[in-house]
Amino acid sequence: MRQLIIAGNWKMHKTITEAVSFAQELKSSLDNVGTGVEVVVCPPFTALAPVAEVLKGSSIALAAQNMHWEKQGAYTGEIAPAMLKEIGCKYVVLGHSERRQYFGETDENVNKKVMSALENQLIPILCVGETLEQREAGITEKTVEAQTVGALAGLSPEQVSNLVIAYEPVWAIGTGRTASDDDAQQVNNFIRRVIASKFGSNAAEAVRIQYGGSVKPGNAKGLMSQQDIDGALVGGASLKVEDFAGIIKNSL
Ligand code: PGA
Repeated sequence: MRQLIIAGNWKMHKTITEAVSFAQELKSSLDNVGTGVEVVVCPPFTALAPVAEVLKGSSIALAAQNMHWEKQGAYTGEIAPAMLKEIGCKYVVLGHSERRQYFGETDENVNKKVMSALENQLIPILCVGETLEQREAGITEKTVEAQTVGALAGLSPEQVSNLVIAYEPVWAIGTGRTASDDDAQQVNNFIRRVIASKFGSNAAEAVRIQYGGSVKPGNAKGLMSQQDIDGALVGGASLKVEDFAGIIKNSL
């Protein structure tokens, strides 16, 4: 049985003050949510350490939104995996479509980051997903397969088993246009089959595959009840405690 994982990707939102009060509120509103779901928040780099302090002793896990693959060095403006580990991050989001689109991330870079995260005991949340043009051209599967296989090149089946993959159709991110339950299930199932063919059925059964793209309290239940959807990566609706907690509660 795969435990649901619901992660809030704050993107470039929230000062330290805002992040800390959000974390305090979230902690109390999830007091008796149980163990059916793993909750993760992904604050911007500046708020990671103060949020980690607030979350100490709670079951809410911390993730960074990106990192560099190198251990250290002359890479102005970058953050190394060991720095995230020291703060208390359990996860790191890698290959988000906004990083691919605005910052030129390639499958090759994402692969280096995935490897480096694992070497530093961080669990990657690997994002894949097609653009609207790719969907309309009928190459959704081809695109998602290339991104998945590219990012996971060189990994062992055991390493893949512990990963989180987030299927996020680019046309559904921040647009209010969610993939239908069926569409999302179909692609998530396809990704699981790709994992089975490359890494074997044990890895495919174990790997958790989230859906992301305009997830809200109102559509969470339908999406989360799909066989191959093991959680959500939430952007906009993770910025308000009421919405994010609503998604978590409706998923159970
Ligand atoms: P959204 O973002 O929920 O605002 O669509 C999802 C994401 O980018 O992870």
